[in-house]
Amino acid sequence: MLRICHLYPDLLNLYGDRGNILVLLQRCRWRGIPVSLREVRYGEPVDLAEVDLLFLGGGSDQAQRIAAEDLSSRAADLRDAVEKGLVVLAICGGYQLLGHYYRLPGGGELPGLGLIDFCTEAGPERLIGDIAVEVILGGRKQILCGFENHSGRTYLGQVKPLGRVLRGFGNNGRDGTEGVRYRNVFGTYLHGPLLPKNPALADHLINLALQRRGLRVVLPPLRDFWEKEARRVILRRLHLPEQ
Ligand code: GLN
Repeated sequence: MLRICHLYPDLLNLYGDRGNILVLLQRCRWRGIPVSLREVRYGEPVDLAEVDLLFLGGGSDQAQRIAAEDLSSRAADLRDAVEKGLVVLAICGGYQLLGHYYRLPGGGELPGLGLIDFCTEAGPERLIGDIAVEVILGGRKQILCGFENHSGRTYLGQVKPLGRVLRGFGNNGRDGTEGVRYRNVFGTYLHGPLLPKNPALADHLINLALQRRGLRVVLPPLRDFWEKEARRVILRRLHLPEQ
C-alpha cells in the first residue's frame, strides 16, 4: 500500500493543485498498486513514518501564514522523515515554506521550516504565465510544463534547483533556476496542476515512494494520450519543439 498524505488540503490548494493528488492516485490504480490518501489539517497529528509521499500545495500569503504557524510544530518530524527518504512534492506557497523565510510584500517575514537552504522575498510585480523547465529525471532529460503565479522570488543557497527555465520566470526571473531538489524533496512554482501535464514526473515520484517502502517495481507504461495532448498545446504556445 502506497500512502499519500495531503497536508492542509483546505489551506494550500491553488490553481488546481489537488489535481496532483488525483493523478498520483489514478496512476497507481491503473497499475493495480494499492494506494491510500490521508488529508491532514491544521493541528491534526500525523506520524510521518507512516507516509510515503507528502504533498503541499500553494496558497495565498494569508493561508501561508496560518500553515506556517502549524508547520513550525512539525519541523523536527519533517526533517527526520526527509532525511529518511520521505518523498515530498511542494508547490509554490508550500515550496516557499520549506526554506528559511518568506519576506512578505510590505515587510514582515513568515518563518519557513529551514528544511532546505533557500529564502524567498516578495517582489514588486507578480510573475505570471506558462512555464517550461528542463529537468533530469532518473538520468533522462525531460521538459516540465506548467503555469506560475507568484510574487515571491526564491534564491537558492547551497542546494540544487529542480531544473533550468526554458520559458517563464522560475525561482526569481533572473538566474534561470526553477524549484529545488533535495534528497526526495521536489519544490516548484509550477501550478496548473503540475502532474497531469507531466506524467514522467508523476511516475518518478511514485517510483521513489515505492522505493521508500522497500519495493522495486517497474511501472508499466500508460497510454497518456490526453497528457501528451496537453503538453503539446503548452509547448506549442511557448514556441518549443513538441516532444
Ligand atoms: N504567496 C506566494 C507568492 O505569491 C505563493 C502564491 C502561490 O502559491 N501561488 O509568492
